[in-house]
Parts: sequence; structure tokens; C-alpha cells
Amino acid sequence: MSDRETIMTDTKTIQQQDHAHYLHPFTDHQALGRKGARVMVRGEGIYLWDSEGNKILDGMSGLWCVAVGYGRTSISKAVYEQMETLPFYNSFFNTTNVPAVRLAARLSQLAPEGFNHVFFTGSGSEANDTNVRMVRRYWDLMGFKERHVIISRHNSYHGSTMAGASLGGMSGMHEQGGLPIPGIVHIGQPNYYDDGVGLTPDEFGLRAASWLEAKILEVGPDKVAAFIGEPVQGAGGVIIPPDSYWPEIRRICDKYGILLIADEVITGFGRLGRWFASEPYKPDLITFAKGVTSGYVPLGGVLVGSRVADVLIGQGGDFNHGFTYSGHPVACAAALENLRIIEDEGLVERVANDTGPYLKHAFGALADHALVGTAETCGFVAGLNLVKRKAENVHYQVRFDPALGVGMLCRAHMFNTGIIMRAVGDRMIIAPPLVMTHAQIDEMVALIRRALDLTLEEVRGRGWL
Ligand SMILES: *Cc1c(COP(=O)(O)O)cnc(C)c1O
Repeated sequence: MSDRETIMTDTKTIQQQDHAHYLHPFTDHQALGRKGARVMVRGEGIYLWDSEGNKILDGMSGLWCVAVGYGRTSISKAVYEQMETLPFYNSFFNTTNVPAVRLAARLSQLAPEGFNHVFFTGSGSEANDTNVRMVRRYWDLMGFKERHVIISRHNSYHGSTMAGASLGGMSGMHEQGGLPIPGIVHIGQPNYYDDGVGLTPDEFGLRAASWLEAKILEVGPDKVAAFIGEPVQGAGGVIIPPDSYWPEIRRICDKYGILLIADEVITGFGRLGRWFASEPYKPDLITFAKGVTSGYVPLGGVLVGSRVADVLIGQGGDFNHGFTYSGHPVACAAALENLRIIEDEGLVERVANDTGPYLKHAFGALADHALVGTAETCGFVAGLNLVKRKAENVHYQVRFDPALGVGMLCRAHMFNTGIIMRAVGDRMIIAPPLVMTHAQIDEMVALIRRALDLTLEEVRGRGWL
């Protein structure tokens, strides 16, 4: 048997076992069983290899995580050494561990001014569950026990636990399992492309922010605890709000004394060219996960600003919340080394001043493609809309019938061309590793263009244009 045959046989076996035993996240198992899952076996830098030997450029950083790229041996070493020294100990019952303390101190340094405390969790979802409980605890301690409602946005993503999925605004998730849980309500998202007809982006940003005030007045200002939002919506399709949006949201939160939670699970640690994208509009709590370890080991948490921390700590008493793996020493060791790499390689500054602007230019040029309506970036996230007919004004562009699934078709062409790009409806999105060079950005954009050409050919062949 040749090597190639051995690998192929192995792929079939793995696919069969996969289907027989492994329930995947957000997956139609019946459909996956017919196709067989793609088996990823190795990663190096910005590339992945599957079990068939295909090399694929990972435009999604795993799942918005792998900021420093695959195969960083210094992280594996840090993890190995920590496992040899102390693989686990909990932080309950008045104990702590060295990597957790060091990481909490490091994060306090990197975070915006006034953020000096960290609550660790195992994931972004758990971190948002922590937020729900923490802001309610805060208002209880302040003597406002009625203030328990949290306002979020449609089409936002805040995780998949009961509270995370409730905070999120994904209707498909709410339909399953009786969500949202009580005390969580939603407003519209700042999606200029869909909803900004007849307005300038900044006018629309103010309008979208005004929905928050309307909702506060509807619920009753004395009942609202917090507003939560992603600086740029990720899973919702890389929805970049107009510049006017966040400062106005902050102003409205201040007007009613409401806490502002920035969910920076995607946008934290340099992805938008700052350590934390929300820094300019001063949130009270910041959710993090993903990029904190570049996904090498699961870790999440909440950065707690002084307004909340002073009350939680100052009033005394237990906060009856936490996880076995809060402050896991191995995860914290991975994070410390990952953050060292991000800092030593100047990845945040590179995204802000060098590779980010370069990506904007290279990716933006895709807007000349016959299928592409708009192509925009924000730091190291980017999205393009597939359209049937282009027009200068985005609101006059003609879209495909969503039922045709042009986005998924395009995604398949991307994969087969050797580039991972995610489809959210007919919006194609990327969040590449922050370590990308100019040459690699050019390579990525060329692969995207080739896959767009193949998509165009197929769409024409099917008579959809
Ligand atoms: C991924 C994500 C989460 C959930 O994180 P998990 O680690 O999957 O639980 C929460 N918020 C945002 C913005 C995310 O992108």
C-alpha cells in the first residue's frame, strides 16, 4: 500500500468512527454522515493539513483563536513544564497558583485603565455566564435588587451555554431549549448594509444606538443592569458598526447608570489593532477567551473594572460562582507565553500600522469582483457580501435568493481552492492569524479571488445570474 492509500484508508475509518460516536457542535449529523467530516491532522504557521494531504491556508485562525499561528513550540514547552510542575490545583478555599496570579497581573497591565481584577473561566460562554451573575450581584450589593435585566442585540454571539445563548441574538439557538432565559432582552444590531437605507453610516450608527435608549425606557431604567455587545460582531458576519455607534452607546449607558459589557472574545488581544478594541469607550466589564491562549488550551474570563470590583470586594461576602478550572495553571501558562509572543513580535502594532492597513487594501480590492458587493476590513477581521447585481450605493445592490445558498457554495469552492473562509448567509468572512506577512496576505487574497471566480462560473452555469 502506498502512503497515500494508507492515509485515505485511515480517513475513511476516522470518518466512520466520527459519525458513529462524535456529536459535533452546531452540526446536522445526518448530513455530515453522508459527506464525512474533513479530518484535520496538522498545523504550522498559517497553514493546516488534512488527512488527505491537502494544504489549506487558515483564514479563520481555527475559530478566531490562533492569533500567533500553529506550531509555536514555546507554548507547548510552557504547557509541558507547567504540567510537570503542577498540572492542576483549584483556586477555591483560599488557595491560588503561580501562573494564574501572574496572568491576572499581566492582564491587568494590558487592560484599559481601571481594570485591575480578573475572573477566570474555561471558555467565553462561561465568562458571559459569569457576567450575568456578576452584574446582578453588583446591583444587589448596591441595594437595587430590581436591576436584573440585561440588554443585548439580535444576531450577536455570546456563547452556547444557557445564559450565553440567551445573551446572544441567534434565533436558531433561541428556538431550541426554551431561550432566552428570563431577564434578557434584545435590540437591533448596527448593520448598515441591511438597515441603513437612506442614511449616512454615522446617522445610522446614532439611530441604532437610540434603540438601546428606547428599550431601556420600555423595560424601565430602574430594572436594567447592563448592556452587552461585541465591538465588532463576529459570528453574526463581521458586522462593523459605524464610528458614531459605540460612543453613543456609552453615553446612553451613563445617562441611566447602566453597566457596559464589551464581549471581546474575538476582538481582544490585538485582532482590531489594540489590546482591547473597546478601550476608547470605556466598558465596565470585558469578556475574553479565544486569543488569550491562541486556542492552544481552553481559557476564558472576565476583566472586571473598578466600578464593579470595588463593590464586589469592598462590600465583602462570597460571590457564589466559579469553576473547577477557574485559573487552571496549565491554561494560564499557555496564555502567559502566548501574550509574550504577541508582545515581543509586536503583533498588536503590526495589525494597527502595517499588516492591518495592508489587508484593508488587498482585501478591499476584491470589491471589483463581479460577485462582490462590498469588501471591508477592521483590523484583522474582514467580510464581503456576495451579490447578484452590483451598484455604487450598497442599498441598491441586488442580492441572491437566500434559499440558493450561494454563501455555502462559495465556501466549498474556498475550501477546495485551499483557503478557509466562513459563510454567514451570503456574507463571506475571515479572521486570519495575526502573524501574517504581506506576502501571505497577497497569497490569501489571490486564493479568495480564484475561489470567487469558480463560484461565479458555477452560479452562471446554474442560471442564477
Ligand atoms: C466564541 C465566542 C464566545 C463563546 O466562547 P466559547 O469559548 O465558545 O464558549 C462568546 N462571545 C464571542 C464574541 C465569541 O466569538
